[in-house]
Order: sequence, then C-alpha cells, then structure tokens
Amino acid sequence: MSVQGVIIGLEVHVQLTSLKTKLFCGCSSDYRGKEPNTLVCPVCLGLPGALPVLNRKALEYAVMAALALNCKVSKRMFFFRKNYFYPDMPKNFQISQYDRAGGVPLAVNGYLTIEDQNRVKKIRISRIHLEEDPGRLVHLGPIDQSPYTLVDYNRAGIALLEVVTEPDFNSPKEARLFLQKLRSILEHLGVFDGSLEGAMRCDANISLEGGTRVEIKNITSFKEVERALNFEILRQRDLLEKGISVKRETRHWDEARRITVSLRTKEEEQDYRYFPEPDLVPIVLSEEFIKDVKRRMPELPEARMRRFMLSYGLPRYDAEVLVSSKDLADFFEECVKIYNKPKKISNWMMSDLLRCLYENNLELKESKITPQSLVEMIQLIEEGTISVKIAKKILPTMILTGRSPREIVESEGLTKITSRKLLSELIATVFRENPKAVRDALTNEKAVHFLVGQLMKKTKGKADPALANEMIKEMLEAVRRKEGSSKASTPSQ
Ligand code: ADP
Ligand code: MG
Ligand code: ZN
Repeated sequence: MSVQGVIIGLEVHVQLTSLKTKLFCGCSSDYRGKEPNTLVCPVCLGLPGALPVLNRKALEYAVMAALALNCKVSKRMFFFRKNYFYPDMPKNFQISQYDRAGGVPLAVNGYLTIEDQNRVKKIRISRIHLEEDPGRLVHLGPIDQSPYTLVDYNRAGIALLEVVTEPDFNSPKEARLFLQKLRSILEHLGVFDGSLEGAMRCDANISLEGGTRVEIKNITSFKEVERALNFEILRQRDLLEKGISVKRETRHWDEARRITVSLRTKEEEQDYRYFPEPDLVPIVLSEEFIKDVKRRMPELPEARMRRFMLSYGLPRYDAEVLVSSKDLADFFEECVKIYNKPKKISNWMMSDLLRCLYENNLELKESKITPQSLVEMIQLIEEGTISVKIAKKILPTMILTGRSPREIVESEGLTKITSRKLLSELIATVFRENPKAVRDALTNEKAVHFLVGQLMKKTKGKADPALANEMIKEMLEAVRRKEGSSKASTPSQ
C-alpha cells in the first residue's frame, strides 16, 4: 500500500541487548532501572589515558545480524571518531564507523522483504555500522520546559547497531512493517530484546513529490514511527499546496503533542570531523570467522514460518502473523506442545488474544497469560464446560491477572447451563415475554435466532448453545402442535 509521491528511508539504531558488557569496556550493559552513573569506568567516561578494547561478542552478534539481513560483511575495517561537543558524550566524540574518507561500514548491500496485502517488496539496506550509544539525558517533563538536564552515563558505551536503508519505502505502514520484521529477526538471532524501553530507536527521512527530504530524529517505537511519518506527510503536503517549498531540516517528534518540530536546518548541521580512532586496531575478519558465525545462526522467522505451515498445517497467513514476533511464535509452540491442536490455538491467538493485548496496550511478554492457561481455556470449551462467548469474556481477566480459566469460571459461576429442567423453565419465560417472536418463529428462522439470543441474554451467555437451540426448536414444535389442535377443535364456518 503506497501513498502517492512519498519516499522514506530509515536509519535504525538497535542495542545489542543480549551482551553482558559494553562495546569497549567491561562495564555491565544492564543499565535499565539502575542508580545513575554507577555502571561506568575510565574507558566509558573518557578519562585521560583510558584505552578501549573491542567486545568480541559484539562483533560476532553484529556480523550475525548483517548476515541475517543479507548483507556483504566487510573483511577489513576500522573505527572512526565522530567528534561533537554535547553532554551525552563524556569523551566529546563517539566511536563509530564511517563510509567515507577510506572508511568502510561493517556490512553493505543487504535487503529485507516485507509483505503488505500479498505484495512482496524488497527494501534495500545500504549499510550497517557498529557504534557506541551515548549517555542518557534526563529532563523534568518536556525537554523544552525542563529547568535542568541530568545526565546518566550508564548507557554511554552500550553496543549499537545502525542499520541504514535505501529510500525504498512508499508509505509509513511499509516502514512499520520493516521495523517489525527487523525486530523479529534480531530477536530470533538472540541478540536483541525489543520489549526493552529504548532498545530500538529510529531516524526517519521523508520527502514528497521528489522534493527536499526532512529527517525526523529519535523516534522510539514502531507505532510512533508510523504516526510521525503520517504527520509529516500532512505537514509537507500542506506546505506544497500553499506553494511553499519544504526546507531541508532535522525535526524532532514530540510524542505527547503528536507533531514534529524543527530542531535545526541544514546550515546548522554539524561537521563531525571524522577521523580514524587511533586507540583501536583495525578489525580483520577471516573467512572462517564469518563461516563459523553463519553456521551457528539459529532458525530465522522466514524458515520458522515455512516450518509452521509444514509441520502444523497452518495457512500462510497464520504462520506469518505468528512469526512476526518471536514471543508470539514461542508462545504458540509452547501451546502446541501441551495441546496438539495448532489451528485452534492459532485462531485464538490471532484474533482474541492479539486484540485483547492491543486493547490493553500490552505486549505478550508484559501480560500474565501463559500457554498453559490459554490451552486450559480452549479445553474448557472443548469439554463443554464453557461457551465460546464465556471464553471471550474471561480472556481479558486471564491476561491481566494470570488467574487460571478454570478457577475464574468456577468462582464466578460461569460454567455452562446444561440442565434441561432449568433451560426449559428459562425458555418458557422467554416465550411468555416474546409472544410475537414465538408466533413468527413458527414460519421464520430469523425469529428463532432472536429467541435463542434472548435466552443467551437471560443466562449471560451461559446456556449451552447446542442444547438451547435444540430445546427451543422442540418447544416451538410443541406450540405448533397445540395451535394446530386448537384450530382443529374450533368449529369451521
Ligand atoms: P546523508 O549522508 O545525508 O545522511 P544518507 O545516504 O546517509 O545521506 O541517507 C540517509 C537516509 O536518508 C537514508 O536512510 C536514505 O534512505 C534516506 N534518503 C535518501 N534520500 C532520500 C529521499 N529523497 N527521501 C527520503 N529519504 C531519503
Ligand atoms: Mg547519514
Ligand atoms: Zn565502562
């Protein structure tokens, strides 16, 4: 689904969250929720004389990611210093890679395919860099109203992968699909956990009708990327319609106000004075090293999708939705392990479970539902203890509280009504309250459904649907017979 005249390119920053330590020192990389400025050392604080040493595991992970994104990995490269003066960088430069001045990125010329409404599209990846994350600036409220800035260097030096795409997207939705797929791939590789706050951040470049491009900096989630781009399309369209040309500039996405605001124009762009980092030796990757990484690469989403279709007999669409998130796919396989009804499980996951998570703004990981409890719920339906309707009703409780479905239905008295005696009393009441519908139901199927609906309403969805249907038909038949005989007994004129 492309939007007329829209061109978008992404620069994505991904933390290699599975690493135990930072990119160039032994400090712990587990910085979230930690006391500020406690995970620091002379290297990541940039104290004089401190020397960086490259984290070998980071290099391995980065190469693995590059291979999974179909890139050509560089055999020999070195790091650069990107110089700038800003409080988030204690060294006043960031160790990064550069694709000019004789520099080569970690990897180049990859691609990823995305699928939108059965159309497959190839998004080219121009290059991948390995670099260090800056520190975190903390503000009181919105950045432009905060009376001060606090700085936390615990994040300074965390290993980041920068993935740069060609301007191959033609809609904000395509950009979101790409980011989703990128996340799923990196999670399958075991190098990244996208549920961690700020683990994937994105700069989006966008131009309209072949005009000047604008860069939106530091967007923090897929949803926000799509929103920011949609806003930017409207803003640029509006300018073009008024005959004003779009300025080449960097803008900031204000999540709270849902607008982009100008940060700086091209004239104010900094010159980073890149030069080779003299404290690190060049990286030389042997053919064996790359082969070895390739050999140890786990199953990727695409292969997993084919396996889901083959071994579980899932339709392509189901398999695709499930592998779009590693958590979802793992959850599904856990369910199948304990209850071998893949399609049934997939149906519940893809419709009600996903909708319910979305409505509560939760990721599967953040919710309390377990494969055991979802399976138990499906089994309660199968064994006739609850109706589908009740299952749908208790699912949110399972997600929010983690209570077992059996316990919920028992404590809240939600099990199905299967007593013929009770049902026949209830149906008799429904008939009494709806005499016109009963008359119509003798000739009209729709009115029968109406009566079933009334019974369900009365029992809050607990009447056994099959039995209720059968008994209502029986009781209608009785009415018909009675009417027939009373007609016969009236003397004809
Ligand atoms: P620069 O060196 O100016 O940063 P890059 O080649 O690194 O330029 O591109 C930066 C990003 O801008 C890439 O993601 C690329 O896809 C994107 N981009 C390039 N041209 C356009 C365009 N006309 N419209 C939208 N995005 C673009
Ligand atoms: Mg660039
Ligand atoms: Zn350190």
